[in-house]
Amino acid sequence: MISQDVVEWGKPLQQALRETPTPQGTQVLVKVKYCGVCHSDVHIRDGYFDLGGGRKFQMSERGMKPPVTMGHEPYGTVISGGPQAGELPIGEDRLVYPWTGCGQCDRCLDGVDNWCPTPRFIGIQASGGYADHLLVPHARYLLDATGIEPSFAPILACSGLTTYSAARKLMPCKPQDWIVIMGAGGLGLMAVAMLKAMGHERIAVCEIDESKWAAAREMGALETFNPSQDNALSQLQALPGGVWGVMDLVGAQSTATLGIAALRKGGRYVVVGLFGGEIPVSLVTMAQRAISIQGSYVGSLQELREVVALAQTGKLKSIPIATCGMDQISEVLDRLKAGTVLGRVVAQM
Ligand SMILES: [Zn+2]
Ligand SMILES: [Zn+2]
Repeated sequence: MISQDVVEWGKPLQQALRETPTPQGTQVLVKVKYCGVCHSDVHIRDGYFDLGGGRKFQMSERGMKPPVTMGHEPYGTVISGGPQAGELPIGEDRLVYPWTGCGQCDRCLDGVDNWCPTPRFIGIQASGGYADHLLVPHARYLLDATGIEPSFAPILACSGLTTYSAARKLMPCKPQDWIVIMGAGGLGLMAVAMLKAMGHERIAVCEIDESKWAAAREMGALETFNPSQDNALSQLQALPGGVWGVMDLVGAQSTATLGIAALRKGGRYVVVGLFGGEIPVSLVTMAQRAISIQGSYVGSLQELREVVALAQTGKLKSIPIATCGMDQISEVLDRLKAGTVLGRVVAQM
């Protein structure tokens, strides 16, 4: 099998050739057709996440040792299974739920593998989809995405699921309550599409790069703001009825500070983006304004089933998608790091 691997942290990916694995136990072997290229892989390739205050989350200290095959939005054809894999849809295409846990603990048994204390996420701790073959630990992680465009389906596994799970944390609310999305990258556009598909009406987007505003409006955002302007806060506070919710897909000191300050009383701020940093929060005003600050990380298997079902209704609009070859993934990561990708790039194996 061929894969594009991190061989040294911070360096371009390199092609690797190794023997195609034979599935053991309940494992399923998938021939990868597509894999979305996600911005979080930029950080993984770098070998760390910035925790703020000069602290770093080092991949190497969390048991990750190169070579690492990233890629957590895989989609492909089921080709074989281990002796305990049960009946499989051999020859059919499936979307892979990548946020797999140990499979044994209470979280995993409850179906919230994404909260497993010992994650074995596909494309992070376990080998991922920047390869022509992929081992999936169990057939329950395969989802039938029939009816969804095969180049769009893969991005539901991270981009779609992440925004859906974050949107649910801003619910229930009225469709007319303002929800502000921080960032109009691939995830930001997906967030707008997801909220629209869920029936939400009033969506605003904050994005420094004004060339991305048209795409955000195209997806259904009613207002666009430049968060670097001095009066950004007063512009957000002037939205009729105030800001009920903020989904921060950047996760920087500046976006968090702005987002939390913009909330109306009782409002909710959900941070998803992993740009990095930290903020001081006044506990008195947090209590007096009765605001909520919450983190959201990917989503559960059940939530991915709901995202697939939503996409199958045709209500979820596709964000702009470009495809690239497997050998171009590293270059796409460079472009993601530079912020020059519009929508999402999906690698075609
Ligand atoms: Zn991702
Ligand atoms: Zn577990």
